[in-house]
Amino acid sequence: MSDLFVELTAPNGVKYTQPIGLFINNEWVKSKSGEKITSINPTDESEIASVYAAGPEDVDIAVAAARKAFNNPSWRDISSTERGDLMYKLSQLIEEHRETLATIETWDNGKPYSVAFNDDLGEAAGTIKYYAGYADKLHGQVIETNPNKLAYTIREPVGVCGQIIPWNYPLCMAAWKLGPALCCGNTVVLKAAEQTPLSILYLANLIKEAGFPPGVVNILNGEGRKAGAAIAQHLGIDKVAFTGSTATGREIMKMASVNMKNITLETGGKSPLLVFDDADLDQAVKWAHIGIMSNMGQICTATSRVLVQEGVYDQFVSAFKEHLAKTSKVGNPFEDSTFQGPQVTKAQYDRVLSYIESGKSEGATLIAGGEPYKDVDGKGFFIAPTIFTNVKDDMKIFREEVFGPFVVIVSFKTEEEAIERANDTTYGLASALFTKDIVKAHRVARRLESGMVFINSSNDSDIRIPFGGMKMSGIGRELGEAGLSAYSNLKSVHCNLGNWL
Ligand code: ADP
Repeated sequence: MSDLFVELTAPNGVKYTQPIGLFINNEWVKSKSGEKITSINPTDESEIASVYAAGPEDVDIAVAAARKAFNNPSWRDISSTERGDLMYKLSQLIEEHRETLATIETWDNGKPYSVAFNDDLGEAAGTIKYYAGYADKLHGQVIETNPNKLAYTIREPVGVCGQIIPWNYPLCMAAWKLGPALCCGNTVVLKAAEQTPLSILYLANLIKEAGFPPGVVNILNGEGRKAGAAIAQHLGIDKVAFTGSTATGREIMKMASVNMKNITLETGGKSPLLVFDDADLDQAVKWAHIGIMSNMGQICTATSRVLVQEGVYDQFVSAFKEHLAKTSKVGNPFEDSTFQGPQVTKAQYDRVLSYIESGKSEGATLIAGGEPYKDVDGKGFFIAPTIFTNVKDDMKIFREEVFGPFVVIVSFKTEEEAIERANDTTYGLASALFTKDIVKAHRVARRLESGMVFINSSNDSDIRIPFGGMKMSGIGRELGEAGLSAYSNLKSVHCNLGNWL
């Protein structure tokens, strides 16, 4: 028993019990192979804890538990109100454990504690609560045809859902996926990202405490290529939902074809932010900064390409640079004044640095950052927030997702040109535009090829509003009412009322 938990004290002094096993059937178990993955603190590169990593055999066991739970009357036949109550309870428990969860998130991921506490935990608890409210409001329709037929639809759960989540918002991504899945009556095998499993494992205990029957939610840590792939291609799983890179999303789509799984994919982006001559420049600068620099730039919807109309280009660039110097304070994420913590892992840190090299070698102009940030005790995966100008549309840094505190700023002449260049990408996740002209704002919003458009803001997403991409940024929608259709099937029932044949 004791080797499934460790007692930890976080850098901010919070003491807690960290589960390090696999959570299957509301129990903690070791992985069959005994393999572990060590979680690293990205702030000082120290080891936090080693966590058991699932392999295909463990996935089989978790899927069997989820299938059994799906067919178990204590879950299958529970009233929709009771299902909602379990979710409300979970949301409440997340609130009660907010400090510990935010602490783990910051420790394992590197995001500022104030952000983890206020934003991430607020959103995680809020998402579960939002979908709790939907549990007893799901219904089909009666469809009128002719007097001899009673036709109606029933909204049913999909079945056993595999959920593969990324490391940039561990708890939020877990909540985005658990909320609608549980609301609709599914059961779940969720895999945490191997870089940041700790907060989600802690959350697992709260799921049990809330009273969910065994097997309804199973949580595994494990490598993508082993546990993730086993989930994507498992014949006992009916649906797979994934958030992560486009390359992995394509792999998952292929693997999921083995039994034609229902899929939801939320993948990468290279989202444009357009600033027109008539924009409120001060607002545009502040939102553009938030849009790319928050969460260390590790946001799939980050507006990483800023296109500014030529009349205000120079003014925008100097104001953005000044604002960045004033607000993007890099530092220890447990300090209140920190805006930017470390990148999540050495691999991500190296990746961002390689794009900095690419920008330089392709001839773009570096006007801020462009190097590791060494002033946090000389350790950690910190990068100075980086701006490139003089960027050509065919350069890698204009086309590829960097996923770091890294922005390119270019200028454009006309509205038509801005739209064309904004859409000249294989991605289509988000976009943003700044103008005071209400007609132009809505005209451009319609022409931008992206799942989400922010007018006069960037990345102020909301759990009540559908989230997802077009093109190679994904398939399907999460959040909002739209998120429910990803986790339910419509069954049509035809009932013959006559003997007219
Ligand atoms: P990144 O490259 O930024 O780590 P990924 O898209 O690879 O992002 O990872 C997102 C999630 O997908 C993680 O939980 C990871 O373990 C998982 N994953 C990675 N590769 C695979 C794969 N081949 N099959 C299934 N899941 C995978």
